[in-house]
Amino acid sequence: MGQSRRDFLVRAGALGALGAAAACGESRASALPEGPARTLGRGVARGLTLLTFRGDGGDRLGVRTERGVLDVPRAADLLGMYAPATMDALLQEEDGPSLEALVAAATGSSDAGAAFLPEEGIEYGPLVSRPEKVVCVGLNYANHAREIGAQVPAWPVLFNKFNGSLNRHRGTVALPVAEATNFDYEVELVIVMGRRARNVTEAEALDCVAGYATGNDFTARDLQNGRGGQWMVGKAIDGFAPVGPYMVTGDQVDPDNLDIECRVNGETRQSSNTSDFIFGTRQMISYISKFFTLLPGDLIFTGTPEGVIQGMPPARQVWLKPGDRIDCSLQGLGELTFELV
Ligand code: ZN
Repeated sequence: MGQSRRDFLVRAGALGALGAAAACGESRASALPEGPARTLGRGVARGLTLLTFRGDGGDRLGVRTERGVLDVPRAADLLGMYAPATMDALLQEEDGPSLEALVAAATGSSDAGAAFLPEEGIEYGPLVSRPEKVVCVGLNYANHAREIGAQVPAWPVLFNKFNGSLNRHRGTVALPVAEATNFDYEVELVIVMGRRARNVTEAEALDCVAGYATGNDFTARDLQNGRGGQWMVGKAIDGFAPVGPYMVTGDQVDPDNLDIECRVNGETRQSSNTSDFIFGTRQMISYISKFFTLLPGDLIFTGTPEGVIQGMPPARQVWLKPGDRIDCSLQGLGELTFELV
């Protein structure tokens, strides 16, 4: 098979996948952009703060710079360069070197001026949309385990969310009020995987990370604890995994020493540091990789510190309700905001 024929089939296959992913009535790209092919090798990006924003009918990869948010696909068009168009593509294709080259070229070129946007004007999209896995670690802060009367676990407690749980900065979480009442926040550090990891050692673990983000493992406690012992039904609900606004590349972050905070309607509820982790970042990745092959683009929610509503005395437990606003922050990773409806 000739190269051009193979390229056509790859392109047609990708188009078919796009068509299958779009639901009725949703807009989608009518064709993949034509453009230069990848020439650089694969690897994770370094030294960048990345985001997803909405424009031109779809989610687009952006890079935070001193000149504003760089619209990556637009800059690639203007400069005639290859670059990943979305965060999922960047991560899953391990296209870090291509992105770094584009950012360097755009930053130094007047031809790319139209690709820089003021960040105040953008609408954020979900940081990632289609990881293969969203793995979550429960009970991973010593003080949180204590506050809810749980024993410090001997192994990381694992559960999962789905891609449908993913939500965006400045998005809304629709509460299933007909099915549950005890809605609770859980600010968490989110690890974004950048390389395939299967049975990796703790020493190898951080080499497999693309970056880190602020997230919230939003939870319906009455479903988590009252429907048969599995946590999934209280945790993996549509929209119950807001992540963002940024992914900061792993080279810039010490994940085991970050201040972490959550506020409800402006009132601080959680304030801790990831140094209270029971299982550190390296241990979590190594442990999870013994059972599940972690792929580039996969997410790991790493547990929440003390201060959740579940940990309060019953008389003080006022569960979250429609209209509440939640702000979450991890030191250096940006503030994630969402509202309940
Ligand atoms: Zn959690």
